Formats: sequence, structure tokens, C-alpha cells
Amino acid sequence: MYSGRLIKGIGGFYYVHVEDQVFECKARGLFRKKKITPLVGDYVEIDVLDHKNKKGVIEDIKSRKNELIRPSVSNIDQAIVVFAVTQPDPHLSLLDRFLVLAESQRLNIIICLNKIDLLEPADYEEIVHTYRAAGYKIILTSTKKEIGIEELRHELKNKTTVFAGPSGVGKSTLLNHVHPGLKLQTGEISTKISRGKHTTRHAEIMEIEENGWVVDTPGFSSLDMNFIDESDLHYYFPEYSFHLENCKFNSCKHLNEPGCGVKEALQSGKISESRYNSYVQFIEEIRKHRRY
Ligand code: GDP
Ligand code: ZN
Repeated sequence: MYSGRLIKGIGGFYYVHVEDQVFECKARGLFRKKKITPLVGDYVEIDVLDHKNKKGVIEDIKSRKNELIRPSVSNIDQAIVVFAVTQPDPHLSLLDRFLVLAESQRLNIIICLNKIDLLEPADYEEIVHTYRAAGYKIILTSTKKEIGIEELRHELKNKTTVFAGPSGVGKSTLLNHVHPGLKLQTGEISTKISRGKHTTRHAEIMEIEENGWVVDTPGFSSLDMNFIDESDLHYYFPEYSFHLENCKFNSCKHLNEPGCGVKEALQSGKISESRYNSYVQFIEEIRKHRRY
């Protein structure tokens, strides 16, 4: 028996990475009975049937730390949410949406603010301040000027990471700089789209170095919040946690209730207005969905 990690699944075959080799495996019927399907990211035990042709059978799946949907992968440690300081300009409510989705999956989160070569620090200091104040770690990067790449590389060690963020912010370029062997397609949107059209994209994980793994597909490709309960939303704004106990009502949604700790924190500047506005927008969105 060998221990390995499932890195890719196509047409009933599972590709299992064992040290520096990849075995093409089938799953035992036993999983079908137990109703478990192997997932990319799973830590598995395999029985090797044919060493020469690298074929085997998955005998066991170790219990999962977590499972993401879209992409469907398991055992993810962290999300790195990438935004650009410009090109495209950061859209804060979209950034907050990525953060809430990652929080709802209980992932550790790092924000990567890319393309800092295009602006002066004064032009993006407010966004940095807002998200540091909310408790997030921020890495400032530029692939053009090789800034922050070493720091990003360091954060990827010994962890499995999903990159998230809108298209065009530089996710693929960053990964190529962190690990030049990857050679992910970047830039020319037309080539990315044509790849998407002709081949079905299966999520894959890739080992980059020092036991660091990255998911090759951006996380949270669906940005809807329908599955989030409105009474849980405040937990996904980490900076609210200090203020929730000051709310007069246990069920406070921090909208118009009297004696609300979150609104007090907003008024005294401890919670940023843009973050609060996103919260209200998301609550409304979740409620609207409930009505249908
Ligand atoms: P993705 O869609 O998030 O994967 O973005 P890409 O990696 O494809 O990058 C989109 C465009 O941004 C490409 O033309 C890159 O060359 C460019 N880009 C990426 N990083 C930087 C950067 O740090 N500075 C500048 N000026 N451009 C960048
Ligand atoms: Zn409240």
C-alpha cells in the first residue's frame, strides 16, 4: 500500500500522486456502496497493480478536512483572494463577496493586492487599511516588478491553496512567477475562452514545492450566496465578532435594530462603511432569494 494524493480525475480514472510518481487508478466498488466518490485533493491509500505502467486501485480515502464545491476539491487550507489595484479597478463589494464565500467554507484567507506597479502607494492605501482593520493579511504584489513574490511563495508552503478573484487581476501570472515550471496560460482572454470551449475543465491540484499544492481552477466560480443563512452572515465579517456581544437583541441583524453593537462600531469608525454596505447588500440579496 502506498499513500498519495488524488490530483486529477477523468472518466472514471483517478490520478494519484505518490512521491514523484503518478499512478492511474480505479476506485474499488466499495466506495460506491459507501456512497463516497473520490475527490481531487483526497489523501488516499492505493494498491499498486502494475509498477511498470503505473496502475493501481484506490483502497481507502482518508477523512476530509473540508470539501469545496466549484471547483469540487477537498482538503483545502486557504484561499488567496487576488485583486488588482487597477486594471481592473477593485470593486469592493465583489472583494467582500469572495471573502464571505471563503469565510463560509472556513478557509484561512489572505488577500493579495496585485499590479501595485501601476499606482502610487497613496492610491491604494485606503483599501489596504480597510482590510487590515478587518483582520486580513494582505500581500502587495507586482509580477512586473517582482514585488511580493517571495512572500507569496512562502505562504504557499505546506498548504493547499485555492486562488480566487475576478478574471484579469493576475492570478495565473502570479502562479507562474511563484513557480515558473507551471506555465499557466495568462492574459489573452480569447485563448483562455477557447480552451474552456473545447475541453471540459476538471479541477486539478498541482504540487508546487515544499509540500505546497495549488488548485488550478479559480475558486468560487459561482458567486451567489443563496446557501448562506442570513443569521450566519455576520460571522463571515471577522471584524464584527468584537461587537456582536454589544447588541441588545440576540437575533440582531444589525440593520435598524435599537442598541446594535455593530452599528455603534460603524458610527465610531471601527467598522468601515464599505464593508458594512456590502453586508447590507448581501442580507438583502439573501432575503430576496428566500422570497422566491
Ligand atoms: P487572471 O485572469 O487573474 O489569471 O489574470 P492573468 O494572469 O491572465 O493576467 C491578466 C493580465 O494582467 C495579463 O496581461 C498580465 O500580464 C497582467 N498582469 C499580471 N500581473 C501584473 C502586474 O503585477 N502588473 C501589471 N502591470 N500587469 C500584470
Ligand atoms: Zn446588531
